[in-house]
Formats: sequence, C-alpha cells, structure tokens
Amino acid sequence: MGLIYKIALPLPLRRLFDYLPPPESTHPLSRGMRVKVPFGKRELIGIILGYSDTPSVPALQLKTISEIVDNEAFFPTSLCDFIEKVAQYYHCPIGEAAFTGTPLAIRQGKSCVKPIPHSPLIFQPSPLALNDHQATALQAICEKSDFSTFLLDGITGSGKTEVYLQATEFFLKQNKQILILVPEISLTGQTLERFIHRFGEGMMLYHSRLSPKKRHETWLKIRENQAAVIIGTRSALFLPFINLGLIVIYEEHDAAFKQQEGVRYSARDSGILRGKMMNCPVVLGSATPSFETLFNVKIAKYHSLSLPKRATNIQLPEVTLLDVRHKKLMGGLSTPLLKSIEEHCQHGQVLLFINRRGFSPTFMCYACHWMARCKHCDARLTYHPQKNALLCHHCGYQSRVPQGCPDCQAAELHPVGQGTQRIESVLQERFPALKMIRIDSDATRKKGELEKRLQAARNNEAPLLIGTQMLAKGHHFPHLSLVAIVDADGGLFSVDFRAVERMAQLIIQVAGRAGRVHQAGKVLIQSFYPEHPLLKMILQQDYGKFAEKLLLDRQQCSLPPYSHLALVRAYAKDQPLPQQLLEEARVALSASHHAISILGPVSAPMLKRQGKYHYQLLLQSPHRKCLHSALSYLTSFLETSKLSKRVRWSLDVDPLEMF
Ligand code: ADP
Ligand code: ZN
Ligand code: ZN
Repeated sequence: MGLIYKIALPLPLRRLFDYLPPPESTHPLSRGMRVKVPFGKRELIGIILGYSDTPSVPALQLKTISEIVDNEAFFPTSLCDFIEKVAQYYHCPIGEAAFTGTPLAIRQGKSCVKPIPHSPLIFQPSPLALNDHQATALQAICEKSDFSTFLLDGITGSGKTEVYLQATEFFLKQNKQILILVPEISLTGQTLERFIHRFGEGMMLYHSRLSPKKRHETWLKIRENQAAVIIGTRSALFLPFINLGLIVIYEEHDAAFKQQEGVRYSARDSGILRGKMMNCPVVLGSATPSFETLFNVKIAKYHSLSLPKRATNIQLPEVTLLDVRHKKLMGGLSTPLLKSIEEHCQHGQVLLFINRRGFSPTFMCYACHWMARCKHCDARLTYHPQKNALLCHHCGYQSRVPQGCPDCQAAELHPVGQGTQRIESVLQERFPALKMIRIDSDATRKKGELEKRLQAARNNEAPLLIGTQMLAKGHHFPHLSLVAIVDADGGLFSVDFRAVERMAQLIIQVAGRAGRVHQAGKVLIQSFYPEHPLLKMILQQDYGKFAEKLLLDRQQCSLPPYSHLALVRAYAKDQPLPQQLLEEARVALSASHHAISILGPVSAPMLKRQGKYHYQLLLQSPHRKCLHSALSYLTSFLETSKLSKRVRWSLDVDPLEMF
C-alpha cells in the first residue's frame, strides 16, 4: 500500500480523513495542496495536512482523491502548522479551523487566476519626533527581530499609534509583511486613516465586510509574498503570510477579539501563537490591558513598555463623580448633569455614554410589577419607539405594546430603563433646539450609517453625542469637552467575574475620549454607589493599582488567569436532554480525569432562548495540560455519544462570556 493522505475537510468532526492518491498522479502530493474528494454522496474540497503509511480505516473502505486542485502547496507550511495548533488548542474540528475566514473562492477550489501585479511601496516618512518613552518602546520592538511579546501600556493619547506606525515603517523597509489586528474595522476610526495616509497603496484591509473578490485578491497577494501592511479583524490571522515581520494587536483588551461562534478562538492569544510560529515580535497595545496580559507581564512572559504621559501637552481630564442616591432623575439624568450638558454644549461638544447592556427600556406595570417578557426566551422585551413595538434582542420576537396590564388589568403601563433612544427623547424634550447625534447599533444598522454619523460627530455638526460602547472605542472627537457616563454601576454587582474588569476598561476608555486636542476635558460619572472602593480606584485613574487589587482576588478564588477554564454549552428543544448529555459527560470525566474540577451541569444564565433549553458544564484546572487532556477525552465522548444526535453542543476554551 502506498502513501495515504490525511485531509482536512470542512466538516464538524475533530479529525483528518484518509484518502488514496489519484491513480494518474506520479509525484507525491504536498502538504497544503487543495484536493477534491468524494465524501458520502458529495464532493468536498479539502487541504492535505499529512501523510501516513497505515490507514485509520480498513484499506478496502479507502476512497481516492478525485482531483488535485493545485500543482504546488497552496497553503504555506506555516499556515498549515498554525491551523493544526489552533485546532489542537481550541479542540475544534480541524477542517473548520482550516477554512476560518478563508475567501469563498479558495474554499471552492478556484485556482489562482493570473499573476498579481506588485504595487510599489511608497510611504510617507513619519513627521513626528518621538518622545523618550516612545523611542525606547520603538527601539525595543525593532531591535528584536525574532519572537517576543510586548505590552505597549499607555493611556489614551500617549502616542501608542505613533509607535505602531513607526514600527510598521521599520519592518516594511525590510520588505516584511505587517499585520495590524483590530477588534472591529468600523470602530478603528481615524487610526485607519492614519495608516492609509502613511502607507497608501501598501496598505490592505481584510475583514468580513469586504467583497469576496477583494478578499480573494488580498489573500493571493499575501501568498505571493508582497510586502504590505494588513489591517484586519480576527480572520486576518489566517492569511497565508510568507514573511511576517510584526504583529500589532490594537486594543488588546477588547472582547471582540474572541470569536463567539464556530471556532471559538481568541485572536489575541492566537496572534501571539502566530508570531511565535513565524518568529516575529508581537505588540499588544492598550490603555487598559486585560488582566491576562498584565499577569503575563508579571510572570515575565511578556515585556512591558510603558507610555505614562500624553504625547501632546493636553492634560488628562478632570473626573467627577455625581452621587445620584435619592436624587430626582429625569430619564436617568440628574439635575447637575443636565446643567453641565447645557453649559458645555454652548462652546464644546458633549458625549453622553450609556451602557445599555445593563438597562434596556421596557414597559412595566407599577401596580403588579408585570414586565413585558419574550415567549421564547427568559428575557425582557425592549421597547423600540419608532416601531412602537416590543422586541426580543435574543430571538427577534416582536409584539405590540399592550394597552393595559395583561395581568392585573391596570389601565396604564410605564416605560422603565434608560436606553439611548429614551435618553435622546428626554433630552429633546428638555433642549428642543439642541442638535444631537445618536450612535448605537439600532441607529447604525444601515450600511454606511455608522461612518456617516461618526464623520458628522467629528465635524462638530451637533454639540451632543449620545451613544453606547460603539462610541467608547478608538474614536477621536476633536471638539469634545465633556464626557458623561450615565450609569457607572453596571459591573459592580454582576455574577460574571470579569464584569468589574470590563466596567473599569469601559469607563477609562470613555473618559479617555475627553479633551484630546484643544482643551483639558471634563468627565462626569453618575453613580448610586459613589462610596464603592472599586469605583473610587477607577476614578483615581490608577488602572494599574486597580488591576493589582483585582488580580489578588482572582488568585484567592483560583479564577483566570490563575486557572484555566473551558465551558461546554449544550441545548435542545427537549428540556431534559442537554442536562442529561452533560451529566453523562461529567460522570465519564470525573471517573477518568481527577486533576480537574468540574462544575455543573447547570442551566445557562438564560435557560430558555429561541425556544431551546440551554445548559452548561464548566471545567477548571490550574494546569493547562490537565485541561487539554480532559478536553480531548470529552470531545471524543461527546462526538460519539448517542444523545448528541439530539442535542447541539459546543466547546469554548478560555471562555470570555459565561452564557
Ligand atoms: P494613542 O494611540 O496612545 O491614543 P496617538 O498615537 O493617537 O495615541 O497620539 C495621540 C496624539 O498625540 C495624536 O494626535 C498624535 O499625532 C500625537 N503625538 C503622538 N506622538 C507624538 C509626538 N512624539 N510628538 C507630538 N505629538 C505626538
Ligand atoms: Zn426571545
Ligand atoms: Zn399589572
């Protein structure tokens, strides 16, 4: 028996598939080639990832590759290696990892059309002289031409982006490829413009909203070893880099780097892995680094480079806490806050930030406390005034606003909660002449609307900006003089152990929007718990100290980064089934793997969602190795379990969300 090829196929199974070479092939096939193979009644395109002498199925059952798509390795070896490592680490189907974010044409086995013209590299040299901190950071990054992970830790406006730009220039001059990973393209704002301005044609974008043709082209250009600057989201990590010189992970603390469906990978962590495998430096940047990253600095796995001061001579904003206990509120806004808004709107621009995740507007009966709830989910319905309807944000269920209370027949229902739209209408009533721009996911659903509104906000076309986290990230509004945070308390009492970390990051990021260009800004924060020690620490703008304190708590409770977690989620229409499947898994695991703690199965925080019942099982271990071994066992148990035919399940290694 000759060589057997091990092929990754786009199937939800955690294995490679064995095939024989086509009879007419005279040369051995290489790893990274695409081939067409029969699978059941279908034909699939797969990638050769390995060889073997002995088949894993009886030789008679082996099928033959029906077509060789490429005449040489199409996926570079380094990409094949990376795919294997990602699949191993996240215990995901390798075929799914292999095609993560890969352009459709490539998944369909279309071949390279014609040679791609190389665009000449022209770039604007940097106009700025770096300050000492920046220069030290740049030097550290550039003098390491092999793998190393750096944290560029600097407050908003400290000049991190300028360091990325100059490091990029340095590696570009050496004809290297540079990858700038961003959490979301649309939220990169002017940073993107700065890169385009410096690198012009040499800059390419890669994200899911590009046309398939554009993505295909970029993929091929990178594979052709064109030196270039790529700005992309998560999936850009799977581009076929040949000659990667630098990876920058922009706003590394951002939860959007974690993919929450399909292959649940962290692009930050995988980015570091990619850098290690390509032997190039990786720079993580943030004003509010994640606790995981700070921990890795502490144990000297990452090198910290800090930019402690603003790069321009604009002062840090002055932060004031507004105690709103027992105060009369108008749509959630206190009188002093309304006054400040009015004042600042006269000469400057005001950003009003609402963390809508906590409170969404709904209707309530004051007599019996009835609230509008979804039929299919354990969730409240949210009121949308333009539609005059109640919507479920989890399944899309829509219903009319009832005339009176359906439970106690009280005549009147009352709006409660404080979403952006509600605040907008309260403010319109109070300041009828004031122009405002609202930026949230509802207002910006239409293509191009977000860019339009951001542009209008930057051009100071309205003195008042109202928004959600969409406004907190990376944008520079040059005219901003006041930032107001309507409710700072969201994370203080959450069951999610990461909630406080997120809350602090959000507050500091929002506050960092203030006073960037012309004047020192002001930040006002409303709170019902102004005495809360964590809130006080955040207000002193000492994120480092805050993180120290909370890391200690995490250590005492053996929570990440002091232990490692994996979450198995399961759901089905039939309520007992997911719980049953997870219980079987727990019994099997606890008999075979003693070194890990198993919590659950328990019902998910939202048990019923879209008409299905959700349960979960949490695995925890201080040792990564023990967790991996348990997960290998668990996935094969679940894949072969009878019940799993009627229950959907998924695995999340290093979960960020606990539901
Ligand atoms: P960050 O990315 O940390 O928020 P930026 O790189 O955007 O900071 O810098 C903030 C502002 O300071 C920008 O307007 C930038 O042009 C300016 N800046 C950065 N570095 C310098 C420098 N060395 N000298 C003068 N201005 C600088
Ligand atoms: Zn619903
Ligand atoms: Zn009622």
